[in-house]
Amino acid sequence: MKKDHSNKIPLFEHYPLLADKLDHVSLGASTTPVEKLDRLGEEIGVNKLYVKRDDLSGSIYGGNKIRKLEFTLGRSLRAKAKEVLTFGCAGSNHALATAIYAKQVGLKSISMLLPQPNARYVRRNLLMSRCSDAELHQHGNTALLAAGTVYQLVRHGIKTGRFPQVIPPGGSSPLGTIGFVNAAFELKNQIEQGEILEPECVYVALGTMGTAVGLMLGLRAAGLKTRVVSVRVVWEKMARADQMERLFHKTNSILHSLDRSFPMFELTEKEVDLRHDFYGREYALFTEEGMQAVDWARKCEGLKLEGTYTGKAMAALIDDAGKGALKDGTVLFWNTYNSRDFSNTADGVDYHELPKVFHRYFEDEVQPLDRES
Ligand SMILES: *Cc1c(COP(=O)(O)O)cnc(C)c1O
Repeated sequence: MKKDHSNKIPLFEHYPLLADKLDHVSLGASTTPVEKLDRLGEEIGVNKLYVKRDDLSGSIYGGNKIRKLEFTLGRSLRAKAKEVLTFGCAGSNHALATAIYAKQVGLKSISMLLPQPNARYVRRNLLMSRCSDAELHQHGNTALLAAGTVYQLVRHGIKTGRFPQVIPPGGSSPLGTIGFVNAAFELKNQIEQGEILEPECVYVALGTMGTAVGLMLGLRAAGLKTRVVSVRVVWEKMARADQMERLFHKTNSILHSLDRSFPMFELTEKEVDLRHDFYGREYALFTEEGMQAVDWARKCEGLKLEGTYTGKAMAALIDDAGKGALKDGTVLFWNTYNSRDFSNTADGVDYHELPKVFHRYFEDEVQPLDRES
């Protein structure tokens, strides 16, 4: 891949050496808007409530995964890969984003998926993955998924003469996490341009941790004091403070090794503001508070949130606001969910074209809280 120096992302403006050493492919994640949420703020008792509209990153499909893919797919292109293989649950936004943007840059994608509670977005995402020519597999548990993955790597390796490049769940390798280090520098630019005051805190859903951890590192490096409130929405064993610390350190080490002027920071467990109370019973199982938050965001602002991630993160923000903790400070909600409507494309697919293991998502009921809105 030729180095494209027109990719003047904020991180590279601050650290030009990184531009030479990191492979970044632009997928349209540059400078998402920051907007004030006056009506929702008034409703919940936050005078200065803002949203970072990462839902608008990318023109086909938005959300937080694109910032990471700009680096992970950049690396895959540099390695002259033909295929990428990644992981998620059946309705994974990351698997879908990978399918869409891999196709856009000329790579085939393979998604290794696990079962999850049923919801309408699972159906939409599966159909859209199919439209993006992704090869989809589902296995019943992680051990079977690991075995299936080895099998697919070998099968594709033999078929194409090259192993697919593996992208970890959520795209949250240290490399992918750099996408959110850059996002923090982007926010800093928006603060300097007067679009928002330096936030006291930013609320974000925590899954594979790349988003929250990248922001924590980037905010530090950008000289901002903004605190990251991470709202866990996955199994506790997947997202613990010590794991966040490790990802922070690894990402930091890469940046420092590529450009010595990028400082090394310490992150201690104490500094990690991790919330466990909004998860509910299971990953991707919606909660009452989460769906209430989704309703409020839609009614007050026309903002599209959902039950697996962003509704739960907003519920945490609303809960803190209810305790009077966020009244006067500047509070930023990082919207990590896609809001681009791709139903026109996905509606053209019949679910019978998907492998049989996925048919049940279309034939079974969705979970009770996934009501029409
Ligand atoms: C993946 C995802 C997250 C979590 O981001 P991580 O970087 O995996 O922690 C949050 N919100 C949405 C909508 C997502 O798809």
